[in-house]
Amino acid sequence: MEITATHDDAVARIRAAGLKVTAPRVAVLGIVEAGGHLDADAVRARVGETLPGTSLQSVYNVLGALTDAGLLRRIEPAESPALYESRTGDNHHHVVCTRCRAVADVDCVIGEPPCLVPADAAGFAIHTAEVTFWGLCANCRREPAG
Ligand SMILES: [Zn+2]
Ligand SMILES: [Zn+2]
Repeated sequence: MEITATHDDAVARIRAAGLKVTAPRVAVLGIVEAGGHLDADAVRARVGETLPGTSLQSVYNVLGALTDAGLLRRIEPAESPALYESRTGDNHHHVVCTRCRAVADVDCVIGEPPCLVPADAAGFAIHTAEVTFWGLCANCRREPAG
């Protein structure tokens, strides 16, 4: 059964990351893996379906622990709440819709960080470049402006 497979996988990944396995952690990891780019409110709404009474604060705590452990990645596009995703470690970038705030993954321009280097790095050793592309998503492009 698909739900069981997802659940077992989440348990294994949490354990492999050296974290204690708890029901909220398993639920949150499974939800983000299934859901793409979700903010804490959206995660809490879905956690509530299986673990009613889970507070927003505990969802934040779980998201923070999973992010610190490298199981989730947090992105913060301008004017959006922090979003969480399970695709980590590949330096991919995001494209954000300026109208509806839809977020999609795009592969790294170069393949590894830093994929952009400034002409003058002001003495810094650059290790990463955070790139966000902005545009209109396919749905918004189909709709007339207004
Ligand atoms: Zn859009
Ligand atoms: Zn992403």
